[in-house]
Amino acid sequence: MDHEMTYGSDYKFIPATSIGSGIGIEVLPDVFCHTIQIVNICLVGNPKTGDFVLVDAGMPESANEIISVTEERFGPNSRPKAIILTHGHFDHVGAVIELVKHWDVPVYAHQMEMPFLTGQKSYPEPDPTVEGGLVAKMSPMFPNEPIDLGNNVQPLPSDGTVPSIPEFRWIHTPGHSPGHVSLFREKDRALIVGDAFVTVKQEYLYKVLTQEQEISGPPRYLTTDWVAAKESVIKLEALRPAVAVTGHGLPMSGELLASSLEKLVNEFDQIAAPDYGKYVNKNTH
Ligand SMILES: [Zn+2]
Ligand SMILES: [Zn+2]
Repeated sequence: MDHEMTYGSDYKFIPATSIGSGIGIEVLPDVFCHTIQIVNICLVGNPKTGDFVLVDAGMPESANEIISVTEERFGPNSRPKAIILTHGHFDHVGAVIELVKHWDVPVYAHQMEMPFLTGQKSYPEPDPTVEGGLVAKMSPMFPNEPIDLGNNVQPLPSDGTVPSIPEFRWIHTPGHSPGHVSLFREKDRALIVGDAFVTVKQEYLYKVLTQEQEISGPPRYLTTDWVAAKESVIKLEALRPAVAVTGHGLPMSGELLASSLEKLVNEFDQIAAPDYGKYVNKNTH
């Protein structure tokens, strides 16, 4: 490691939680998701072979929890082949520096997300005025400055493959962030969504706390391009996923997922896009 990695200067622990916090779910024999406070990380790979990757890197100060969850599933001193980031928001990269140092593994993200991961560009300020509940109101405290992973982060291969998990393809699903990706596996139509859509109304503290399952668009306070966000949901629905692990909320599968996604596509402007907020221009819908 020839580059000092740093978090943004506004990096800090965020006191938010949910009843899912600390709980892991084996969604498929080789897809395990675990909730860190209010966000999900995903371990992809079969514990029998020991080859696996980590998708997303949790909340600030969660490295020890992520390492112990990983060792619980894959054995003492196990480490992933790579860390794949769906995007670079603070709640998906919160422990990435400690994890890279501990495991000495490469990080991959979409080319368009690179400026936010190499210290070049801040995300837009979260929007506390957006239509929504208490989490939206809390959002000004969320870090938006870029972390700098230096040359420890590399762009995902342009051919759509995902390093170390050859059955998966990455799909560009911008809107929530410019270089947002979701991961899809054709053979069982497993989808790791990131925040392109989520299964909890992430703007509302009570719903986050209880994790009441309800399809929703990307978390509003950080989403800046609602036109692209809608196109991304349409793209994902067209894949007819059988099971979806989202960045926030409980995994969803089967008929509930199919009907929820169809509803989200058909009623995106009502369900997902906020009626007001600084990144909203309803005229463009
Ligand atoms: Zn996000
Ligand atoms: Zn998120």
